[in-house]
Amino acid sequence: MQLEIIISILQLSDKYHVDYLRRRALAHLSSRYPTTLSAYDIDKFRFHASIDWHIAVIQIAREVDATWLLPSAFYLIAAAKDDDIQQVLNTSCYDKRSVRLSSDDQVRFFKSSLQISIAGNTVVESLHSSGAIAACPQPLGCYLVRMRALTAAQAYIQNADPLDLSNTVWPILSKDCCTACVTHFKTTLKAGRQDFWNTLPAICGLPPWEELERIRGRALGE
Ligand SMILES: [Zn+2]
Repeated sequence: MQLEIIISILQLSDKYHVDYLRRRALAHLSSRYPTTLSAYDIDKFRFHASIDWHIAVIQIAREVDATWLLPSAFYLIAAAKDDDIQQVLNTSCYDKRSVRLSSDDQVRFFKSSLQISIAGNTVVESLHSSGAIAACPQPLGCYLVRMRALTAAQAYIQNADPLDLSNTVWPILSKDCCTACVTHFKTTLKAGRQDFWNTLPAICGLPPWEELERIRGRALGE
């Protein structure tokens, strides 16, 4: 379903209290802006959505109190590169529809972008904070691989996309570390991503996922 149709349905169903249509439109958006990391990882829609699309979603989410959509939406615009930041701030329309981040959400965008960028460090923290891994037969060799992965991560952190960071470090670790270290870092990277996801709503100045899911449950009749 096209976003402009979803927005129209939401505005009309909200205004005239057509709950069935409202729920259907919100369910569609919810599948694109999930509340769980596993759902986020499965859905590849984010690779195709544009900045103005995300901003249109943030605006309609504000209009109809669909706050559970906001952490994912803010995360996706936080990953904006230098040129895109202008677009985040200057976007004024999507498909001839007037859309814009409110001044409060512009501040939220800057604050959350900074924190999301810093959070990349926590995802890979175990690479430098843990000592030699038990059962590692080549501690020095694996340590050097970890440092190489960290160097690659440092170059990537400026992208403010910590959830994708493991795609940068994992090929290095999995190729050149021993089996014991590969097993260890597979677990810690997964935990680091999950820890970050758990804090994402707070980073965006929103209630925790559990509360957002309760709001979604009431809105969707789950
Ligand atoms: Zn090792």
